[in-house]
Amino acid sequence: MNTRDLQMFPEGGGWLLVEFGAETREEARQQAAGMIRELEGKEHVTGSKLFSDSAEETRIWEIRESGLGATARVPTEPDTWPGWEDSAVAPEHLGDYLREMRTLLNRYEYDGAFYGHFGQGCLHTRITFDLKTRAGIEKYRRFVGEAADLVLRYDGSYSGEHGDGQSRAELLPKMYGPELCEAFREFKSIWDPDNRMNPGKVVAPYPITSNLRLGADFRPAHPTTHFQFPDDEYSFSRASLRCVGVGKCRREDGGTMCPSYMVTRDEKHSTRGRAHLLFEMLQGDVISDGWRDEAVKESLDLCLACKGCKGDCPINVDLATYKAEFLSHYYAGRLRPVTAYSMGLIYWWARLASIAPRFVNTLMDTPVISSIPKRLGGIAAEREIPAFAVTSFRERFRQRKPRNVRGQTVILWPDTFNNFFHPETAEAAVEVLEAGGFHVKLPDSMLCCGRPLYDFGMLHLAKRQLRQIMDALRTEIEAGTCIVGLEPSCVATFRDELGNLFPRDEVASKLKRQTFLFSEFVHQHADKFDFPHLERRALVHGHCHHKSILGMEAEEKLFEQLGIEYDVVDSGCCGMAGSFGFEREKYDVSIACGERALLPAVREA
Ligand code: SF4
Ligand code: SF4
Repeated sequence: MNTRDLQMFPEGGGWLLVEFGAETREEARQQAAGMIRELEGKEHVTGSKLFSDSAEETRIWEIRESGLGATARVPTEPDTWPGWEDSAVAPEHLGDYLREMRTLLNRYEYDGAFYGHFGQGCLHTRITFDLKTRAGIEKYRRFVGEAADLVLRYDGSYSGEHGDGQSRAELLPKMYGPELCEAFREFKSIWDPDNRMNPGKVVAPYPITSNLRLGADFRPAHPTTHFQFPDDEYSFSRASLRCVGVGKCRREDGGTMCPSYMVTRDEKHSTRGRAHLLFEMLQGDVISDGWRDEAVKESLDLCLACKGCKGDCPINVDLATYKAEFLSHYYAGRLRPVTAYSMGLIYWWARLASIAPRFVNTLMDTPVISSIPKRLGGIAAEREIPAFAVTSFRERFRQRKPRNVRGQTVILWPDTFNNFFHPETAEAAVEVLEAGGFHVKLPDSMLCCGRPLYDFGMLHLAKRQLRQIMDALRTEIEAGTCIVGLEPSCVATFRDELGNLFPRDEVASKLKRQTFLFSEFVHQHADKFDFPHLERRALVHGHCHHKSILGMEAEEKLFEQLGIEYDVVDSGCCGMAGSFGFEREKYDVSIACGERALLPAVREA
């Protein structure tokens, strides 16, 4: 969904995107302007707009590509399904075809938004078929038959862009005639006499209404879960139905989704493969071991929990959340792998190490000694354990005098990494916020959002951490104080997981609304800051949770304001993904993710 960018469109209830190509940009612009003049005042044309900036063009096409996601699941409206999603007629007949198709839909009391490639006469739509009852399935079958007759009256095709497959193959004799269909059969049998290649599709097809994903016997399990899935009617089972199978997660580069597929090229390590396995797990037919199933576990193992799918998938499949939920049940009542304790509990280890950080650092600098905790903790030998700060950020902050005590109060979130490893980053953030006149405070007690726990499905503990935060900050949250975070993963926990774990909790929803990434907060209060002009160049890698949950717009605006010329690397996920890159078994995949785009770009910079 691209609701933000929708405002770019002129007023209207439907939009036609027309692209002009020419020798020069000016020539193309003139052609477009000519068409807009021609259309002015025509019936049904409520407005037109010309986009000639390539960044805007990209955003416009992204809106078009969101058509599927935007229409598959509209809150409070019935779900829509494929079944008549790819028909095509000659472009000059498209208007008439669309009108007749709408009449047909109305007669069947179905609905479905139209989108597609109208220049080629191709119509995509998802329709509100009832595919869960016998009567609904029969009605769907009758509709498809009538839709086929309609498209054939226009000499069109059932499938303009994609294949016919089982959902339309039964109708092929109507389009090609029995003689040609017999020729298809004979031709296939020459190459595949035992009918082993893709049986039941095109030749001797299975009936349209067989092998439906839902069907009249669709009775998925409805297990009790930690996450509440408010966007899926509070049902994990419904969340597992999200994937519509278009396979955007199988692209081989570009965007964040899906790093594990990009480096393995294996369906079981793609968002789609995982989503379908979870769906099958709840169905219980093919996968019968439920939460303890090893095949599902194996498929989720290489998921980096980067949330690329939540941001990039047209239906926002959120595999990181499903993985955390699965692991919490898979490990219920049994020991987790050693990495869950060595890295999932990093907040507690860091607190312990902060008692004697110099001593711990000396040990970690000694190769023979440092190899022991690495070996015991399941950490890759190639990775270096970062050094602990001698004085934590909280301690350094405690030693400063409070400033701007009459200014607006903000709470700076002292995350585990900035607090125990990189206090200078948090100190710089304090300096900036104070330069804007803000009174910076830290939470009175030591807290952790629990982000590392999600990777290992330690959701009881994760919920406890969030509950502790809401109790500790209740007064400030209720007073509307903003919480500013530096680590995108922590901010993403408040903006994403928190609402999913406590969807009906008023304090949780306030905390979610009042938490900002440092860049967002500074951008929102830009009038309070005196920005220096830096005139520098930067190569920017967006953190994957940052890109998928928070968006990088605030950074981009601030870079421009600071006079920084920047290039955003299309790096997807860097491969570290919390503790993922540190884990011995995941090291190779992690490096492959980094080497895909980010590491070469950094070397070249
Ligand atoms: S969270 Fe990342 S790695 Fe996991 S399925 Fe989604 S995109 Fe792929
Ligand atoms: S460090 Fe890389 S993997 Fe981690 S969260 Fe960042 S971009 Fe994703």
